Amino acid sequence: AAMAHTKALLVLENFIGGKFVPCSSYIDSYNPSTGDVYCRVPDSGKEEVEAAVKAAKDAFPIWSSKSPLERSQILNKLADLIEHDLEAFAQAESKDQGKTITFARTVDIPRAVHNFRFFASSILHHVTECTEMPAMGCVHYTSRAPVGVAGLISPWNLPLYLLTWKIAPAIACGNTVVAKPSEMTSVTAWMMCQLLEKAGVPPGVVNVVFGTGAKAGEALVCHPEVPLISFTGSTLTAQRITERSAPHCKRLSLELGGKNPAIIFDDADLSQCIPTTVRSSFANQGEICLCTSRIFVQRGIYSEFLKRFVAEAKKWKTGNPSDPTSDVGALISKEHLEKVRTYVKKAQAEGARVLCGEGMDPLALPPGNQKGYFMLPTVIAEVKDESCCMQEEIFGPVTCVVAFDTEEEVIRRANGVKYGLAATVWSGNVGRVHRVAHRLQSGLVWTNCWLVRDLNLPFGGMKASGIGREGAKDSYEFFTEVKTITIKH
Ligand code: NAD
Repeated sequence: AAMAHTKALLVLENFIGGKFVPCSSYIDSYNPSTGDVYCRVPDSGKEEVEAAVKAAKDAFPIWSSKSPLERSQILNKLADLIEHDLEAFAQAESKDQGKTITFARTVDIPRAVHNFRFFASSILHHVTECTEMPAMGCVHYTSRAPVGVAGLISPWNLPLYLLTWKIAPAIACGNTVVAKPSEMTSVTAWMMCQLLEKAGVPPGVVNVVFGTGAKAGEALVCHPEVPLISFTGSTLTAQRITERSAPHCKRLSLELGGKNPAIIFDDADLSQCIPTTVRSSFANQGEICLCTSRIFVQRGIYSEFLKRFVAEAKKWKTGNPSDPTSDVGALISKEHLEKVRTYVKKAQAEGARVLCGEGMDPLALPPGNQKGYFMLPTVIAEVKDESCCMQEEIFGPVTCVVAFDTEEEVIRRANGVKYGLAATVWSGNVGRVHRVAHRLQSGLVWTNCWLVRDLNLPFGGMKASGIGREGAKDSYEFFTEVKTITIKH
């Protein structure tokens, strides 16, 4: 019976040099909404990474010498192919990650498609610099060239979305890549590999090696012929990657965690602010690096805000991710769910008040989902700024609401964490909005909105939230090496 069960599982293979290759050992991957193992992911190590880097190196001369227009056409073709299979990709992402099918259909997969289209277009529009020194008889100009084999490592929360945010600019610039998705969410990357040949991506340009961070990830980070690593994940892992890559002086782009504040002044339009802040707190189960987890509300509107915010949060339906009426799906793993719950318990032990969600309201799940990793959107009030709930990234459907009095005070408190990724500011006073935005230590500040992104502009964090920025120009600069050439006439 065990054999028959094993046979029914989805088994992934690495994609190296344009071919799917089996691996000698595998890791179990769970369906977070049922708690069942449903997929086996290659447990790659040094050997597999070595083969992938070799394939990427071999493919580099031809790929890097293609014109941007040729590469652009291939990226557009790949975007079309993913879009054509959007529903299959969305179903797979929802099953693998636990996110709702609605979120996968409207956010994850459309954005993965857009990532390829965006860089297919932006690669055509870069210009290099030129200066003249007539007195010296000289002209200087810069030229940019792809770096070589790029190592790309991505997390589990927005699997294909974040992986393609790296693959698209890397290959658009003429690099070849070895990508390692999270071992917990590998399926959509594997599905994308099935489309590469049809899109015209030559063998070896995109290689995907599946496995854990400790084995496959580190082998990539330590490989001497991978000069550049683009990583999205936790701050702790980034520290490890920085150490391990230091002997090779690698170029690093690090997109890390956050502890993002929302600052709500008493002149905010609450009819916009409340639904948006519920969304910014609980979208994708709160498993987005940009999610709000500290809400500062000006004293005069604090109790009204809290009442309306909790009422709105309670409207969010937690349930089977494949049900299109669900707003909140399952968390990524049993361990992660336990970790998120622990934060709620710690807050209670410290005297904070849990207003709704975990431990307060009943969680009704369909029979098939009883063993899934579900948790209700949880709102906590009266938490001290020093509390771990206000300092550490929880990365789940938990948000803390506290009161403040003055602008000066709230800026200091909002900046009083080690992270600096994203912030939101709500106020009708345009002067205040600008003043506060300028003083927040945050790579992104949204005022009177959330998650509105123009991919042209830099994305990334300050302080422990990261190093470097990605975006049209920033990704181009990261994924190319610049040279200054001087001509004397
Ligand atoms: P993680 O750091 O545990 O893992 C991320 C990736 O790194 C995975 O593929 C993992 O296998 C790999 N990895 C782990 N250890 C490694 C090592 N020693 N060497 C090389 N690779 C290694 O993060 P996670 O739990 O998958 O993702 C959640 C985190 O990601 C959160 O902190 C979240 O804020 C952050 N995140 C940041 C952004 C951003 O853009 N700033 C976006 C999404 C998620």
